[in-house]
Amino acid sequence: MGKVIAIANQKGGVGKTTTAVNLSACLADMGNKVLLIDIDPQGNATSGIGINKGETNTCIYDVLIEEENINHALMPSNIPNLDAIPATIQLAGSEIELVPTISRELRLRRALEETRDNYDYVIIDCPPSLGLLTLNALTASDSVLIPVQCEYYALEGLSQLLNTIRLVQKRLNHNLAIEGVLLTMLDARTNLGIQVIEEVKKYFQDKVFQSIIPRNVRLGEAPSHGEPIIKYDPRSKGAEVYSDLAKEVMENGQRVG
Ligand code: ADP
Ligand code: MG
Repeated sequence: MGKVIAIANQKGGVGKTTTAVNLSACLADMGNKVLLIDIDPQGNATSGIGINKGETNTCIYDVLIEEENINHALMPSNIPNLDAIPATIQLAGSEIELVPTISRELRLRRALEETRDNYDYVIIDCPPSLGLLTLNALTASDSVLIPVQCEYYALEGLSQLLNTIRLVQKRLNHNLAIEGVLLTMLDARTNLGIQVIEEVKKYFQDKVFQSIIPRNVRLGEAPSHGEPIIKYDPRSKGAEVYSDLAKEVMENGQRVG
């Protein structure tokens, strides 16, 4: 049975989408069958693997709101072994549209039952909020991977995220585990980066991934070419570190919950 991992942090710009795209691509490159689900209305994970948002017939909106079969929304990406469920701006209204629906937090979990067995990993790219879309992702997942940007105030807001995770564990998904905390956008030339690493490790201890994502120009460029880093520049530092992360995730085992 496939392992479902949500990439979540309600802060924007911390590297969620970059991690969702590149972790998915690296896992697929290592021979795993991977499904990347975009539930951010901005659809950056969708375009990041070369899917033209204008050309999608069915997106995650139809699955969550219209109860379309999730298999009808599957699209191939430009990486072998990697499929996606795209998001388009249509999803923007769904935080409100979901409110009066039945089992509003369980929609993604139920939809995934139709397809998760076809994959080794399902990676969900969450929007920058703790609303119903993120709740759907956490309820549908075996674990949550939390990207934390190496900057001042790195830990700010994380207690809110951890509270939400605890609530989901209590009420909606007893098995939700923390896959790990991923430090992102490290500028190794500054002392601040080192301080943040120490602070985050003190707080999360062995839950912090060994792999630390550096600030890397090629990683920032790749999305505008619609390519994961292993395709855009396989020899870059970014490609190397995201491959290391994929190995760590595989070593964590199929289901930690
Ligand atoms: P989020 O999904 O959390 O909002 P993104 O992954 O979209 O964050 O990253 C925010 C911006 O920073 C994007 O423009 C992205 O290309 C860039 N970025 C992310 N990670 C890196 C990195 N390690 N090095 C350089 N740029 C990065
Ligand atoms: Mg994003």
